[in-house]
Amino acid sequence: MPIAEVAEELRLADLLSRPYGKLSAGQKTRVSLAKALINEPELLLLDEPTASLDPDTADWVRSKLEAYCQMHAATVVLASHNMAEVERLAGRVIMLEKGRIIADETPRELIDLCSYAEQLGRERLSRGRVEVAIRVEGGGMGAITQAMAKAAIEHGAEIEIQADVNEVLIERNKVVGVTLQGGRVVRGRALAANLNLKLLYTRLVPSSSLPPEFLTRMKAFKCISGSFRMNVALSKLPSFTVLPGTIAQVHHGAGIIIGPSLAYMDRAYRDAKETGWSREPVIEMVIPSTFDSTLAPPGAHVASLFCQHVAPELPNGRSWEDAREEVADLIIETLDRYAPGFSKSVIARQSLSPLDLERDFGLVGGDIFHGSLSLNQLFSARPMLGYADYRGPIRGLYHCGSGAHPGGGVTGAPGHNAAKAILSDLRLGFSHLQ
Ligand SMILES: Cc1cc2nc3c(=O)[nH]c(=O)nc-3n(C[C@H](O)[C@H](O)[C@H](O)COP(=O)(O)OP(=O)(O)OC[C@H]3O[C@@H](n4cnc5c(N)ncnc54)[C@H](O)[C@@H]3O)c2cc1C
Repeated sequence: MPIAEVAEELRLADLLSRPYGKLSAGQKTRVSLAKALINEPELLLLDEPTASLDPDTADWVRSKLEAYCQMHAATVVLASHNMAEVERLAGRVIMLEKGRIIADETPRELIDLCSYAEQLGRERLSRGRVEVAIRVEGGGMGAITQAMAKAAIEHGAEIEIQADVNEVLIERNKVVGVTLQGGRVVRGRALAANLNLKLLYTRLVPSSSLPPEFLTRMKAFKCISGSFRMNVALSKLPSFTVLPGTIAQVHHGAGIIIGPSLAYMDRAYRDAKETGWSREPVIEMVIPSTFDSTLAPPGAHVASLFCQHVAPELPNGRSWEDAREEVADLIIETLDRYAPGFSKSVIARQSLSPLDLERDFGLVGGDIFHGSLSLNQLFSARPMLGYADYRGPIRGLYHCGSGAHPGGGVTGAPGHNAAKAILSDLRLGFSHLQ
């Protein structure tokens, strides 16, 4: 096939004169595809051919591949993590684990086989023992808890949501259950508490059941790293002055931090200490829709804006209720300076001040980690010395959330460790505990 024709087909004509090294990742992908097509191959080997392309271009490349295969009766061997792509392009799927074939199915059969797939929007899927073939994607962060819930239910768990716990029930210094809002009692042999431990021990556990010294130390546990969070719906990707362009590039899929110098960050911290928030905030932007097409319609995007220098309590008795929109405007204006036109691309926004994070999600002081990750609150001192083994002072009550070692973040590590402690105590019938 003549090179000009292929270049035209793959919209590369204007790139032919540019040095290869100056092309974006997506442009390089299209150039590689063009190089392969020039020879009109009967067999095409493609490795993640659309991974670095924006959703529209990716869709368009898939159409070109389909057309090419039909016209030339060609075979494509495609390595892809994207299940939607596999389903669309492939007649047969081979799944590999450490080089061994562990499944050889049609895409439809494979989807039926992997029960998680339905739940994860059939975009991408993951099974315990599959390491290579397909990653979890689709459904955003919620897909993780959905997958966990499904696995738990398959193992016999019952899950209730919208069930606020009002009180932890204790008999003879042993937890026997909880009372839910509305008065219903749920009894059990062990209770794994995932909420902020300060809330647990100051609101849900009767203080008369706690050693006074423990309660005093718990009250002193610091939850002070307030944060301000915005979620925005965007009509297009931001074009940054340092890396212009609204077509997806590598940086759009990365964590983007507005914090141009140490002096800037220091000023942000000092400002927040004095006035409650930074005049020029440090902002971390993530645009998950660049790699999860289920989150926004084609061409549009969702982004989170995370701003950490904010005081949980504002000076001069001012409330976050009054300051929320002012700070949200400031964050958007700041982004406008680094990505001109950003504010115009915002279709909708959700703004969560430290007060909202505390009220809506139980994040005391807006602290997303259930307690500062400072040296005196880490390792064997999380939440405090003597209680870092996922057990509090009351038998049967365990700490499985971010207030336990190793702390906050989407790691699952505190829960994993707490589960081991619970299993071991259940096996021993709590007899080894005082
Ligand atoms: C804006 C923001 C951005 C973040 N960014 C990142 C990031 O980029 N990377 C990262 O790794 N981590 C990030 N985190 C932190 C991460 O989300 C948390 O560390 C993690 O979710 C903590 O998990 P957890 O299970 O310990 O607690 P949570 O996820 O806080 O779960 C506690 C649950 O307990 C519930 N609860 C509270 N009180 C009660 C009650 N009385 N009865 C019943 N239920 C109750 C709450 O509603 C909540 O669902 C972020 C958090 C926020 C808020």
